[in-house]
Amino acid sequence: MIGMQIGAVSFVDEGIEEVLEILQTKGAVNTLFLTTFTYGRGLSGRQVPGQPFPDHGSQESDQQTFHGGNYAIPHPEFYTRTVLKETRAPEFGDLDIVAKVLPAARKRKMKLFCSIEDVFRSDVAGVKDVTEVDLKGRKGGGLCLYHPDVRAFWTGLATDLCKSYDIDGILFFNERNGPLLNALGASHAQSIASSRVTCFCEYHQRAAKAAGVDFERARAGYTKLDSFIQNALADKRPSDGYFVEFWRLLVEYPEIIAWDRLFDAAKHEVLAEVGAAVKGVRKNLQIGFHIEHVNSFNPIFRATRSYADLATKADFLKVVVYNNCGGERYANFIRNVGSTVFRDVPKAELLSFNNHLLNYGNEASLEDLAKTGLSPDYVARETKRAIAGVDGKCRILPGIDIGIPTGRNSRKASPEDTEAATRAALQSGADGVILSRKYSEMRLANVEAAGKAART
Ligand SMILES: [Zn+2]
Repeated sequence: MIGMQIGAVSFVDEGIEEVLEILQTKGAVNTLFLTTFTYGRGLSGRQVPGQPFPDHGSQESDQQTFHGGNYAIPHPEFYTRTVLKETRAPEFGDLDIVAKVLPAARKRKMKLFCSIEDVFRSDVAGVKDVTEVDLKGRKGGGLCLYHPDVRAFWTGLATDLCKSYDIDGILFFNERNGPLLNALGASHAQSIASSRVTCFCEYHQRAAKAAGVDFERARAGYTKLDSFIQNALADKRPSDGYFVEFWRLLVEYPEIIAWDRLFDAAKHEVLAEVGAAVKGVRKNLQIGFHIEHVNSFNPIFRATRSYADLATKADFLKVVVYNNCGGERYANFIRNVGSTVFRDVPKAELLSFNNHLLNYGNEASLEDLAKTGLSPDYVARETKRAIAGVDGKCRILPGIDIGIPTGRNSRKASPEDTEAATRAALQSGADGVILSRKYSEMRLANVEAAGKAART
């Protein structure tokens, strides 16, 4: 399977037949992952502001008109048990992108999956009623995955898409982290905001009670963790050192870990429920999960994601192995953990240590990582790890980085490394690849290079 992630705007700007022709002839693409639901710019919209446009599509920013939502037409009967009813994306009038692209894809014998992503805007009707509650009782951030209206929304959306259209399945994206990682800023994507740790709402309290986790102890633990982080960022070293102080917090407040697991449990319950909803419509529909980048380079996060367990919930996993932006992101991760828990360790040594933990090979130094990127060897190693982890119980489709925006001086995709990365994934035994993140940010020479690797 050679998949392409693509949003509605590319078809609107460039024409459905024209785009499909390019994808087939240049990219050897046989499967569309059509962005159907998101409010985020990672999967939807034209090139993000401040980045050069690729050599196709409109060269005008859609920053003023981009909104997001459901690019198909939501059918109200599937959303009776949720306050999240008004999610239709308004950008393209009456266009139903799934209804429009599906017959054209079928004519070319291409498969079509709907991509849906857990990214919302705060001004969507009903969102304020179902968002998370942070350590200090403030609402905001993402949707609470224990809220019954949120659960009903995801299963409703998946059921709607599978019943209303003759698609091949769903690819579900949820990149949100649990409270422990949020507190540590232990991801490439975050700044460290340890007091914005979530979620402490009534539904979480109820779930905690059912799991035998003490809510007040968890909150006390996270309050102490917040002080630890703030002190570290202010360079106030605990007398026993940063790592020891952190570990002592975990020992004295095991509820910190338990509360974090509660978040993961909800996320995995949602995955399982969406999977069940999909299979409930037609047995042969496929469900896949996007496994986010942080799973690759953060050992703490890795420990919470068992491929063996995920394999029981999905037909395929899209494992992110983005190697160009990977350099910049991995360096950010090292700087984040190196400013708190591992603050006593020189960052170059921390990187080297982390490389060993993760079984990375000979990657660039911390100063060079962003401009060098991660290597095709990294793609191969992460692909093999995923294949070993799922042990034949589900398919592995590595996500290949083609032109994912990076900083001014950071690595950009070239045809040579796109070909090398695609080849590394396929030669490592992957069942296919998914070209990411979206067609509207990819240069055609890079798409062609991925196609060349797929064909030979
Ligand atoms: Zn909650």
